[in-house]
Amino acid sequence: LRILGIETSCDETAASVVVRHEDGRGEILSDVVFSQLDEHSAYGGVVPEIAARAHVEALDGLIEEALARANVSLDEIDAVAATSGPGLIGGLIVGLMTAKAIARAAGKPLMAINHLEGHALTARLTDGLSFPYLMLLVSGGHTQLVLVRGVGEYERWGTTIDDALGEAFDKTAKLLGLPYPGGPAVEKAALKGNPDRFSLPRPLVGEARLDFSFSGLKTAVRQAATEIAPLSEQDIADICASFQKAVSRTLRDRIGRGLARFKQEFAHLDVDRALVVAGGVAANQEIRRTLQALCIENGFRFIAPPPRLCTDNAAMIAWAGLERMAEDLPTDGMDVAPRSRWPLDKDAKTLLGSGK
Ligand code: ATP
Ligand code: MG
Ligand code: FE
Repeated sequence: LRILGIETSCDETAASVVVRHEDGRGEILSDVVFSQLDEHSAYGGVVPEIAARAHVEALDGLIEEALARANVSLDEIDAVAATSGPGLIGGLIVGLMTAKAIARAAGKPLMAINHLEGHALTARLTDGLSFPYLMLLVSGGHTQLVLVRGVGEYERWGTTIDDALGEAFDKTAKLLGLPYPGGPAVEKAALKGNPDRFSLPRPLVGEARLDFSFSGLKTAVRQAATEIAPLSEQDIADICASFQKAVSRTLRDRIGRGLARFKQEFAHLDVDRALVVAGGVAANQEIRRTLQALCIENGFRFIAPPPRLCTDNAAMIAWAGLERMAEDLPTDGMDVAPRSRWPLDKDAKTLLGSGK
């Protein structure tokens, strides 16, 4: 089976062709991404209207390029998969409508994919991971710990009750005068900083629930910065290092509890234990080291797909479509609508702060 995937939920326009071989192995035939970073950086964040327009301009060309690089024609693909939520509604409309038009014109089935499911299943494409496993999604819009039981079977164990982790990095960078996106800038500055100079809060550490909270951390950074202003380069480095340390300690506690719960839940089964990370924040080396060490201590495999497949891309959307088809899950009709909010698990409505 071969699928064309389309991703337009945030500030990346992407198209990809992925094939699933008979043995279940996935292979990426093409994977093209246009990042709109330059369009948004002047505003210090993603501007929805600009994003939607940029998707319109880029998408057709990217789809042609994805097909050309994969060396397949539309006739040779078996379905079209597009992200239909959660995300910015303008972008979702562009991607889903384009997918509908292609599916209709080429007479192929349409798969409307949950963006989070794409992130959740990526490790099966890259590492052939088997179910169940734990996934930590940490990006600009999401911070979730999810139990992945199977295709379409997800349990959200924890989520942020306020800011996403990437958002905390971006806001911290902004108030220190560092460039957007903040994550890489904070990480770079932290390399030269003293992580013990400021003692910043570690939200929810010690609590039994598996949720996250990062807005207090950002507020504490603002206070620390105001107290010692004007900031020298060394001050900024020290704040960044202290911020990253607080984040790492918080993740250690929260994810540590998640691993313990996983062990308990599957104590009776002989399952391979694994933690997968996804999302742009997973590029952070200190966070990776922290999670890696935690996994080793707890007898878990630590799986971090290559950064290109951790951040937003269309290969993960195509792959999610392939996984759904392999399970004979229903395809979607021409009436399927994009959803700006779309929790991964069915009964997530009562939980707070699913992100976008
Ligand atoms: P979505 O939640 O829909 O995936 P997004 O586009 O914001 O939204 P990504 O593109 O996966 O998510 O990730 C971008 C985020 O990752 C930004 O908040 C950015 O600051 C953060 N980030 C990128 N590199 C690093 C890093 N080295 N350290 C920490 N954070 C990082
Ligand atoms: Mg992005
Ligand atoms: Fe994403």
